[in-house]
Amino acid sequence: MKKVVVIGSINMDLVTICKRVPKEGETLIGGEFAQFPGGKGANQAVAIGRMGTPVSFLGKVGKDSMGEELLRSMSQAGVDISHIEKESISTGIATILLEENAHNRIIVVPGANYLVDSAYVDRHLDAIREADIVVAQLEIPLETVKYALKKAKELGKTTILNPAPAVELEDSIIENADYVIPNETELELISKIKVEDLDSVLKASRTLLDKGVKNLLVTLGADGVVHVDKENHVKYPAFKVEALDTTAAGDSFIGGFVRGLSEEKTISEAVRLGTAVAAIAVTRMGAQSSIPSKEEVEEFLKNR
Ligand code: ADP
Repeated sequence: MKKVVVIGSINMDLVTICKRVPKEGETLIGGEFAQFPGGKGANQAVAIGRMGTPVSFLGKVGKDSMGEELLRSMSQAGVDISHIEKESISTGIATILLEENAHNRIIVVPGANYLVDSAYVDRHLDAIREADIVVAQLEIPLETVKYALKKAKELGKTTILNPAPAVELEDSIIENADYVIPNETELELISKIKVEDLDSVLKASRTLLDKGVKNLLVTLGADGVVHVDKENHVKYPAFKVEALDTTAAGDSFIGGFVRGLSEEKTISEAVRLGTAVAAIAVTRMGAQSSIPSKEEVEEFLKNR
């Protein structure tokens, strides 16, 4: 099986559940509060690790109790945490307001994640060298993402970029990605084309293919996923489930998809795995806590 390295963020998600989010100047009484290990990078590594795929992580936490808990969560999912450095700054946190209708609003304070720089990548280049697949997102400095993807391509690795959270991107970041996996909002920002239906998804995707991306996998929430490459496009449905909390849906999709790639499955099989992992995750609360194991995914697919 192919090996994976994820470079990215590690955050503690501080979740407040409420009927609705407050308006400016308004104070509301919320329903519940909980603390969940998260961060797009760590979530994706945990999703990959729970699928039984060898995965190591490049990133940083603070020297605090949240950092310790986050490392424990990753390690329990089978992620190799030996390259993670600890800094004298707060661990990254995300404050999440989750409405009972499953919509969320999130503020991220990057903390240690923003100290993941090119010099750190150079110190741990052996982790990239030892892997076959490199996965990155955008919750660490963009310069570092750009550098890591460039190094990964120079070393002949397969590269995956999840351009989240949504920001405008330089072409020099995208051109080193074999697979770009955005949701609709992210696709709109990186392509600068309004995305509102399948035609516009295809139009926006083609502008990115022209810039060197080999494959686009655009996730459409409950509507599934569209795979676009130079020749073709294929739309895959999502599994029908009762969504409770869609936090980490995209991260879970990536976990299953990368598992498929690591086993050298076809894109269509890898997408099916990704949509299965994500479908289970959206029926549960939290980020890493909602991500299923390989056995749960196999059981889920057996019944479909
Ligand atoms: P993100 O979390 O990055 O915004 P999406 O919302 O597009 O990503 O979700 C990623 C994937 O998760 C979708 O392509 C789909 O497979 C799955 N998913 C998301 N929401 C649901 C849902 N309500 N029911 C079933 N699957 C879902």
